[in-house]
Amino acid sequence: MKSWLAKEQALFSQHITAGNLPHAILISGVKGSGKEELANWLIQVIQCNQVVQDNSPDQSQGNILQPCHQCKHCKLLLKNNYPDHSTVVAEKNLLGVDSVRKVSAFFERTAQIGTIKTVLIPQADIMTVAAANALLKTLEEPSDNSIIVLLSGERDTLLPTIISRCRLFEIRPPSGDILAQHINVSANNTNAFTNLSHLPELSSADVAQEYETFERTFFNYITKGEGRSQIVKMSLASPYGLRWLEKATTHAMRGANGWSNQADSTESFSTLLNKDTLWHIYNKITATINKSKTLSQVNIQFILEKLIVDIDNILIHEKSQE
Ligand SMILES: [Zn+2]
Repeated sequence: MKSWLAKEQALFSQHITAGNLPHAILISGVKGSGKEELANWLIQVIQCNQVVQDNSPDQSQGNILQPCHQCKHCKLLLKNNYPDHSTVVAEKNLLGVDSVRKVSAFFERTAQIGTIKTVLIPQADIMTVAAANALLKTLEEPSDNSIIVLLSGERDTLLPTIISRCRLFEIRPPSGDILAQHINVSANNTNAFTNLSHLPELSSADVAQEYETFERTFFNYITKGEGRSQIVKMSLASPYGLRWLEKATTHAMRGANGWSNQADSTESFSTLLNKDTLWHIYNKITATINKSKTLSQVNIQFILEKLIVDIDNILIHEKSQE
């Protein structure tokens, strides 16, 4: 279990002990924040027949309950065979109305083994509008002894009516050096701006190397106009292309604004850049990232190519102002 989840675990444990766990729970957190882990632990604790107190030394956030892993309930759950729990699996990147109707049908049945029925919706973000509306009914008229857990990486994509009917638990992973300690990464590879989305670079030397090359090429492109085709190629080839464009631009902005006390070469290099230009580029990139969240891979390729054209135009415009 990720160590920063102890706070939420303690909070849920408190609710379970007091018998006032909310009927609808929405856990939100960025990719890698551990929301799946937290939800699985929560469901195991809810369903376990003989929960135990966690004896681990760090109880600074409060007492944490743990499933026993021994009882019949725990064993069936671990085998995905527990009849009173259902996980809603998305098909083809969409969660349709049929899946949600199955949830209400599941809740209408009486529990078979335990007393509480639980449903987990791991990708609440990709519900269709029809599905979300169907879910609203279930949330508005909770059946007895039922708990529904929704997970979301992008809370903004959920209907506000759904959010308002759930109790929200937001995971806020640490950043910077504290994150490095949590995930056992050398602090040499991190800075105050390091966050969880950088995990691929932090945990793989190959990816880190790839990013370095990417950033150098990108800086060359925006300062000298060189290597444009390489940047297009690299952005499209990497699963992190869009995020890397944002990261490299943020890095350049820190350098251009003198916000960094690290005298690394890329940052001093970026003082060559105009702050307004970088800001325009940054805004284009973040707008594209927001758009990409609802698109398929084919369309992402299209908007990425369009983004590079937009950056070209920003750079040409800057030149014409000189
Ligand atoms: Zn158990």
